[in-house]
Amino acid sequence: MTRLVLASRNAHKVEEMARILADAGLAIEVLGIDAFEGVPEVAETGQTFADNALLKARAVCRATGEPAVADDSGLCVDELNGMPGILSARWAGGHGDDTANMWLLLDQLTDTPDERLAARFRCAVALVLPDGRESVVEGEMIGALVREPKGANGFGYDPIFVPDGVTRTSAELSAQEKDAISHRGNALRALVPVLREVLAPDGPAVPQ
Ligand code: IMP
Repeated sequence: MTRLVLASRNAHKVEEMARILADAGLAIEVLGIDAFEGVPEVAETGQTFADNALLKARAVCRATGEPAVADDSGLCVDELNGMPGILSARWAGGHGDDTANMWLLLDQLTDTPDERLAARFRCAVALVLPDGRESVVEGEMIGALVREPKGANGFGYDPIFVPDGVTRTSAELSAQEKDAISHRGNALRALVPVLREVLAPDGPAVPQ
């Protein structure tokens, strides 16, 4: 079976990707980087989500010799010209302090009228093959911010983000509900036809 390495140590992300590929009928085994020795950590020095996803996928492909996929995502607020964007994880300074990031963002929007709180999550997913071929797909989830955090699911800015067409924050959605509409889910689904073409040219195991 064709193998694919996801540039992540998060078992949930590996399972999510395996599920999306299996649902699309692709016979591709998804492995996390924990299955390999000596995969380096890559600094996210790119200027765009796509740059960062490519940096990570190239490094994992080089280290493992296998086709590699990496993602990079973040929250883009219209009123802030698309920020925090690629700085989403470290908006308040330290990397990954979700609570501080969320409250700093809300503070910055104190004087912004509620009708101008439009925002979107964006995700780029890069595929890099050992023969040097590369492609990047993107997905987004459009919505608006709310000033009162709500919900205990998800992570990051989920408690203050209400996706369009939904009346709850994305932290109030189940994992399945969020996957079905999320930027990551949409980007991974956009990757399916690319993978079908480059890794499984004989077509899906299950007819579509
Ligand atoms: P990563 O690229 O998935 O590591 O995401 C980078 C940062 O963007 C995270 O630390 C969060 O602050 C934010 N982010 C990305 N995706 C989501 C999401 O689905 N919900 C909430 N925050 C997110």
